[in-house]
Amino acid sequence: MRREKVSLVVPCYNEDEVLPYFYEEFCKVAEKLADYDLEVIFVNDGSKDRTLEIVRGFAKRDERVKYISFSRNFGKEAAIYAGFEHADGDYVVMMDADLQDPPELLPDMLKAVCEEGYDSAATRRVTRKGEPPIRSFFARCFYRLMNKISTAEIMDGARDYRLMNRKFVNAIMQMKEYNRFSKGIFGWVGFDTKWIEFENVERKAGETKWSFWKLLLYSLEGIIGFSTVPLALASIFGFIMCAAAFVFLIVILVRTLCFGDPVAGWPSMTCIILLLGGIQLFCIGILGMYLSKTYLETKKRPIYICKETNIDNEERQLGE
Ligand code: UDP
Ligand code: MG
Repeated sequence: MRREKVSLVVPCYNEDEVLPYFYEEFCKVAEKLADYDLEVIFVNDGSKDRTLEIVRGFAKRDERVKYISFSRNFGKEAAIYAGFEHADGDYVVMMDADLQDPPELLPDMLKAVCEEGYDSAATRRVTRKGEPPIRSFFARCFYRLMNKISTAEIMDGARDYRLMNRKFVNAIMQMKEYNRFSKGIFGWVGFDTKWIEFENVERKAGETKWSFWKLLLYSLEGIIGFSTVPLALASIFGFIMCAAAFVFLIVILVRTLCFGDPVAGWPSMTCIILLLGGIQLFCIGILGMYLSKTYLETKKRPIYICKETNIDNEERQLGE
């Protein structure tokens, strides 16, 4: 009988400190999953340190190690896409290089998909121990807002660490958008997902690549990518303003008829002009954000550019 294959996709950006630990853990887990063929695809996302050198070293020693190296930093989302495109396993796992996604969970995740009939097994952190409280607060707000206004369900604390079967991966690969937001894409495609919970683990070595500002922009990407509710804000504001203006008009009319026409002050007028100007700029800003994303999508640029790889695409007959 043909042995089933599991492909691990690991995006790496300046991870030379942690990669040796990761490889060690990979070997351990491969022993535990001896019934399956394992491969690991490192996607070097334009690292400026020795990441590529280290990965090449692994690949030389171990034929289960594959790598793709980008021509520059394209971002984690592009790295995930490239990894999925090149993974030909029956099951594909998306996993961070920093060991914040515990490899010990893999056997449970495989069991959920192979035996319990789920299409994917995803993980979520139940605690955010070790994270700045302000970041946790904003993260919570983001998930609450996102689930109210978008069609894709996103679980609070969900990691990108996920095991998927072929059907699930093929569905994801059909989503060829340039502005990628994986958490939304995973939720959008549907299928049955088993959620496995774990306590937050701090990264083994190296530093996080996500500043607060980067995370904020990433969350905006999520909202714009998976909801059109902000576009309706202009209409809602407009409606409220019309209603308010109408009430105001009647009040002034009645007041003038009853009490004559005392000179009205200009401060109130300034406030109204400023408020309306602000709302208009805000709404134009939202339109601009959607327009800029649409602009990038219409260019149909490639999601990533590969500079070097040890994967033979023809042999693999990708996409089948
Ligand atoms: N990563 C990447 N490209 C980037 C930023 C990050 O491939 O531009 C990878 C990084 O190497 C790691 C994963 O994405 O494997 C998660 O990054 P990190 O641990 O910095 O994020 P955090 O866990 O703090 O959210
Ligand atoms: Mg991390």
